[in-house]
Amino acid sequence: MKALVYHGAGAKSWEDVPDPTIIAPTDAIVRVECTTICGTDLHILKGDVPGVTDGRILGHEGVGIVTEIGAAVTELAVGDRVIISCISSCGKCASCIAGLQSHCRAEEGAAGIGWILGHLIDGTQAELVRIPFAETSLHRVPEGVSPETAMLISDILPTGHEIGVKYGAVKAGDVVAVVGAGPVGLAAIMTAGLYGPSKVIAIDLDANRGAQAKTFGATHGVVASDADWREQVLALTDGLGVDVAIEAVGVPKTWDMVLEIVRPGGHVANVGVHGTSVQFPLERLWIENLTITTGLVNANTARMLTRLLGEKRIDPSGFVSHRFALADIESAYDTFSRAAETKALKVLLQA
Ligand code: NAD
Ligand code: ZN
Repeated sequence: MKALVYHGAGAKSWEDVPDPTIIAPTDAIVRVECTTICGTDLHILKGDVPGVTDGRILGHEGVGIVTEIGAAVTELAVGDRVIISCISSCGKCASCIAGLQSHCRAEEGAAGIGWILGHLIDGTQAELVRIPFAETSLHRVPEGVSPETAMLISDILPTGHEIGVKYGAVKAGDVVAVVGAGPVGLAAIMTAGLYGPSKVIAIDLDANRGAQAKTFGATHGVVASDADWREQVLALTDGLGVDVAIEAVGVPKTWDMVLEIVRPGGHVANVGVHGTSVQFPLERLWIENLTITTGLVNANTARMLTRLLGEKRIDPSGFVSHRFALADIESAYDTFSRAAETKALKVLLQA
């Protein structure tokens, strides 16, 4: 088969590799119908993720058809169309039982991390992929839902929902601010709507992204480079700040921003992956009764989001900004890596 193979920082190629085979009885093989590229893949290509070694097939998102199942797989059948979760979880270890699938301890050598696809084992940017713990890591696509829409449940929708909205404890009537309206921030904006907030404010450097956020459910957009951006946000509250501030960028500046707009008693939910240390001025903030959360997506709300998708209660089809043939994946990487210019959100790769 063909696959996108990582060859060390800055190097990748679409090349011939052996077809994957069933290794454990809980595995399934999936023929990929569509996949996409994540910001994390760009981090890997920069050499920022040392766990990824030369020869690894990248990708942790996708939808496909089950072509083979291991002897222990009884809940899935050959021919099923499935969403591939970015988290592979056994469903049985102490972490999985505690609802912390992101720290599944079952996969050998994974050091207690559920994100192994396209990281510690070969991933989805390929014609075929082996999925370990298939029954707990694949979700059937509901009738009437297109593969490309279902694919958004592999990673970004659960990430925005779980680490932004649920950890942020968004509830009816809240004023929610999301700093960074990229795919993950937009997923938080879209799923915040499930809990009835009174306002959802999208804050981004790019005015276009703020405007676009309104089609995902934001009620207001604020441009982060405006000198009075903070006053604009506070004016949308009772003056004290937002109930929930979600950080969806991953740089020190945006971490400072969420601390500047959260109200006393409010929640700060960090979703961004930070590459450098941030400041936490505890001497000033200890008195604010804040709740601060952070984490790696568990993808344990994927089934619930899939149900909402099947009932057309959420419509994430707007995330797909560009389409490519899977074999043209190198062009897709180029477009996605220049997102500010190309306005790429999610690039769809179709087999
Ligand atoms: P992205 O780079 O596509 O989007 C980031 C957005 O932030 C862009 O629209 C950009 O214009 C905006 N931005 C940049 N600097 C800003 C500033 N100073 N003020 C306001 N906005 C600013 O990223 P993404 O794919 O949406 O992912 C967002 C973050 O979430 C990344 O750090 C990513 O690694 C992380 N992530 C975390 C998890 C998790 O499990 N916690 C999972 C997936 C992704
Ligand atoms: Zn991802």
